Amino acid sequence: MPVPPALARNPERIAATAISVLNSVFGLPAFRGAQEEIVRHVTQGGNCLVLMPTGGGKSLCYQLPSLLREGCGIVISPLIALMRDQVAGLLDAGVKAAVLNSTLSLEEASAVEARLLAGDLDLLYIAPERLLTPRCLGLLARARLALFAIDEAHCVSQWGHDFRPEYIGLSVIAERFPDVPRIALTATADDLTRREIVDRLGLAGAPSFVASFDRPNIRYEIVEKQNAPAQVKAFIAERHSGDAGIVYCLSRAKVEDTADALTKAGVEALPYHAGLDASLRARNQDRFINEDGVVIVATIAFGMGIDKPDVRFVAHLDLPKSIEAYYQETGRAGRDGKPSSAWMAYGLSDIVQQRRMIDESNGSEAFKRVSIGKLEALVGLAETTNCRRTRLLGYFGEALQATQCGNCDNCLSPPLVRDGKVFAQKLLSCAYRTGQRFGAMHLIDVLIGRMTERVKQFGHDKLSVFGIGRELNEKQWRAVLRQLVAMGHLKPDTEAFGALKLTESARGVLKGETGVMLREQPAGTRIRASRTKSRRGDLAPAATDAGDPALLGILRAWRSQTARQRGVPAYVVLHDSTIDGIAASRPTTLTRLRDIPGIGDKKLEHYGDELIALVNAAP
Ligand code: ADP
Ligand code: ZN
Repeated sequence: MPVPPALARNPERIAATAISVLNSVFGLPAFRGAQEEIVRHVTQGGNCLVLMPTGGGKSLCYQLPSLLREGCGIVISPLIALMRDQVAGLLDAGVKAAVLNSTLSLEEASAVEARLLAGDLDLLYIAPERLLTPRCLGLLARARLALFAIDEAHCVSQWGHDFRPEYIGLSVIAERFPDVPRIALTATADDLTRREIVDRLGLAGAPSFVASFDRPNIRYEIVEKQNAPAQVKAFIAERHSGDAGIVYCLSRAKVEDTADALTKAGVEALPYHAGLDASLRARNQDRFINEDGVVIVATIAFGMGIDKPDVRFVAHLDLPKSIEAYYQETGRAGRDGKPSSAWMAYGLSDIVQQRRMIDESNGSEAFKRVSIGKLEALVGLAETTNCRRTRLLGYFGEALQATQCGNCDNCLSPPLVRDGKVFAQKLLSCAYRTGQRFGAMHLIDVLIGRMTERVKQFGHDKLSVFGIGRELNEKQWRAVLRQLVAMGHLKPDTEAFGALKLTESARGVLKGETGVMLREQPAGTRIRASRTKSRRGDLAPAATDAGDPALLGILRAWRSQTARQRGVPAYVVLHDSTIDGIAASRPTTLTRLRDIPGIGDKKLEHYGDELIALVNAAP
């Protein structure tokens, strides 16, 4: 299969061979985006940096050149679970792949080393700390190498969120093996990280391939938090029944409660947080990865290195810390490109809670200022009445072609916006007249004119603002309040917990100089997953082209059983999109089956007859 060295500089020949290997080994008809250019560049011996979002298809960028070039491709990856699953997938496609990491016994490791030296491996996955040992470097020096792929390359960045000290040592690769091409890959795009990678991995002068960070198959939705467990239950029941998903909560207690509530509602939900026994945690993670349709309820400790392609939704019951964190977490949905949801329920108390966490942290003043800025950007995203995707990508410095993505809640069911100047003025005056010492609840009590103990205690019923806001109900006032915080006219006080203070910009609103447009809040309080009824074209479950449901069920059951027997995740056997393709086109011959994306030569050989028998036997 390797391109003979004499032809390695012939781009046309490489392109033709690349397509044929893409098809025969991976069962895929075409490259996606920049993959083809990257594969050609690396196969010709070039170094490069690849920035692609999660699910963008980074693996092929080094797997294919490893098959096309002479020698073995060395993949450096920090995550053992990920290596294991990737290797299982490759073996299934007939690629000679192996791992070298701490999970191997001495004998197993020697066997892998012998195969490497004998030229019997296409791809070898190595943990960075292992690679850096003199023994391993010596071994690599004696082997024929196709390339080095440094996956999760942002781990070299000391300022980044996933810094791994062992990655620093990887600069040795460029020094010791200057003639072997290096390809660094990451889904973290910011400029500083990019420069650090180039610096440390010796990639100066090498091209960067930057893909769009848009994830068009993910539907973004942010709803007002009322009763989060009930809302997430309704969201799953209405839109993602039977699907695999991740539900993020901030605290361990909330993880437990939510997992319980979902289990009682008949959802296969498992908890995951740092307080659980390590073996139970590992078991829950394995079940989530290996079984179909498991929901994991987790703190943010969960997710790094989870490569499951068919996560259909990511739900946040609490506000993350920043847009970066939100985008990374929601990005775990829909790696396979199929319709998926990123759903979040958020309320004023989230802002107050996050603010308190920042204030109480022992970070420096500069750190706190940066953190507050990041939180404000996220609140802005949550309260925007415009396209969420445009706002998200804009935050990362990328402009969307259109200003409307057509696949977020605000695009699908545009919120009504009205002039809210008078409401804003009433609320701001109320905060001002009560001394800027009270939280949302009390301010709303005063506006609505409720005679509570507190109102009596402070004599707030005597104020001119008492009862001036009866035209809105409590829920509507909360929405006004949140939006004023998001706009920066009000802010939670850092000293008095929960108290809301006016900012400099509030003056303009009170004087009538600054206009305030507010999202219209319906008066009802019925709990629904989405803010609107599921009509065609708005927030109904995203349509898929999946075929006959009966056959789909049969195929999924077969896949679960096959995966269990072989001890691999279900998606290693066949991806969801491949299962859907079979159910939709019902192939009755091997030739027709081979046309379905995801069925390469080896899969056809292993599973072809069984699959056709299932199709023929299905009603
Ligand atoms: P990343 O490592 O960038 O997160 P992966 O390499 O795991 O992404 O690929 C994500 C998904 O996209 C996988 O399910 C993979 O099979 C699929 N994929 C990658 N390239 C293609 C392609 N050219 N055509 C169809 N599917 C692809
Ligand atoms: Zn949109």
